[in-house]
Amino acid sequence: RPRVRFAPSPTGYLHLGGLRTALYNYLFAKSRNGVFILRIEDTDQTRKVEGSVDALIKDLEWAGIEYHEGPGKSNKYGPYVQSERLEIYQDHITKLLENGSAYKCFCTERRLNVLRRDAVKSQRVPKYDNKCRNLSEQEIKDKIKAGVPYCIRFKLTSDCQAFEDLIFGGIAYDVSMNEGDPVLMKSDGFPTYHFANVVDDHLMAVTHVLRGVEWQISTTKHLLIYRAFGWTPPRFGHLPLIVNADGTKLSKRQSDVKVEDYKKNGIYPLALVNYITLSGGGFDHVPGAGVRLKDMDELAEEFQIDKISSHPSRLNPDLLEECNRLEIKRQLQDEKLSKDLSSKLEKLIETKYPEQKKYVTEEHIKSVLNWATARVTRIEDLASSEFGFLWILPSNTEIDFDRNLLIKLLDTLERIERFDQENLKDRLREFSSTNNVKFPTLMKTLRSVLSGLKEGPGVAEMMALLGKAQSLERIKAVIR
Ligand code: GLU
Repeated sequence: RPRVRFAPSPTGYLHLGGLRTALYNYLFAKSRNGVFILRIEDTDQTRKVEGSVDALIKDLEWAGIEYHEGPGKSNKYGPYVQSERLEIYQDHITKLLENGSAYKCFCTERRLNVLRRDAVKSQRVPKYDNKCRNLSEQEIKDKIKAGVPYCIRFKLTSDCQAFEDLIFGGIAYDVSMNEGDPVLMKSDGFPTYHFANVVDDHLMAVTHVLRGVEWQISTTKHLLIYRAFGWTPPRFGHLPLIVNADGTKLSKRQSDVKVEDYKKNGIYPLALVNYITLSGGGFDHVPGAGVRLKDMDELAEEFQIDKISSHPSRLNPDLLEECNRLEIKRQLQDEKLSKDLSSKLEKLIETKYPEQKKYVTEEHIKSVLNWATARVTRIEDLASSEFGFLWILPSNTEIDFDRNLLIKLLDTLERIERFDQENLKDRLREFSSTNNVKFPTLMKTLRSVLSGLKEGPGVAEMMALLGKAQSLERIKAVIR
């Protein structure tokens, strides 16, 4: 059974890229009857943001991504928060010190800064010069005795640890060419990402590491650490970059793709999840076939890691809107969910028009929702001014013909039994010819009386939607 993990650092909110990583790990586990672990990588205490773990767990829950092991769940391989595992890292660093794969480094921040500055000046890649590798036993003893703070570094070797990336194929990269020996343990006793990540993936028996491509360059380093311990590494797969539709990088303001914002702005979880899979690959794609919403079970069933492309995933925001529209449509088919939609919409209307008399019968709200699936992609849109006519009597109506004609029209409409779009269209045409009023003039006036708008949905459509009683009420209101 595969064991995979999502290992976020609690440095802010969950954004689309993080959600994708979580989702693909989850689907991978689900598709193979495996285990999905949530591990919190909070070893960089300076970047920690208060409350972000809770927010992250809530976002995952919202998205329907359930973890089997992690904070607050099964503790078999726990704890799952790295700051609660410091002793484990201490034990393990000792092993590497003993077998000579790691060493204590006493270099001061000042010396490191000088190295960095010199490198930049002479246009070299700044890297640590591995000076402390060569300290004698005595020198080390003396420094410890003198209380000089130290960190622990890993001895990089130049043999490149080539590996087969599950998504990118063969990757070979010699880290030691571009980096000095990396720190495994900081002087404050906290491990670095690289060290804690490897130790935990091993101890948590992770079989597959699926993570963002920005970590691919670290993988060879990780493989060297696995080897130093004598451990078998997991398999690695790196998810491609997510980019805008035009191929440009996502904006630095991650708020553009903050999961919480999607949630706040009326996007439903299943819509967002489908949107990610549509943009991110991993599924058989039938070109030209329309979007079809899949639930998590279906997604897991169809997910194939080798169908993920290594090309950047382009986001197409139109797809998100389409997914959300389909999701609303799906919810309307469910009794409980459609009730929730109705009450959500009713609340939105109440907030938008606190003072006015509103037309919000259960039936009306329901028929608006059904009508809306062809027109809007978010419930919030229905509370925008554009759709105000659905809920309140229009103000500033313009009438292009005389009152008597309106009275006559009212009378005609009152006698119509089938108040549907088709029938209304025919009856209105009839009315315009028998009464010698130009059809466009009639439509323009009626539209204004019903909605106060100059354009919008068809007049007959609008009348059918408002229903007979409400349509007549609006006409009466201008006759008075
Ligand atoms: N803590 C790392 C991150 O933020 C995890 C990388 C990994 O999955 O190895 O994203």
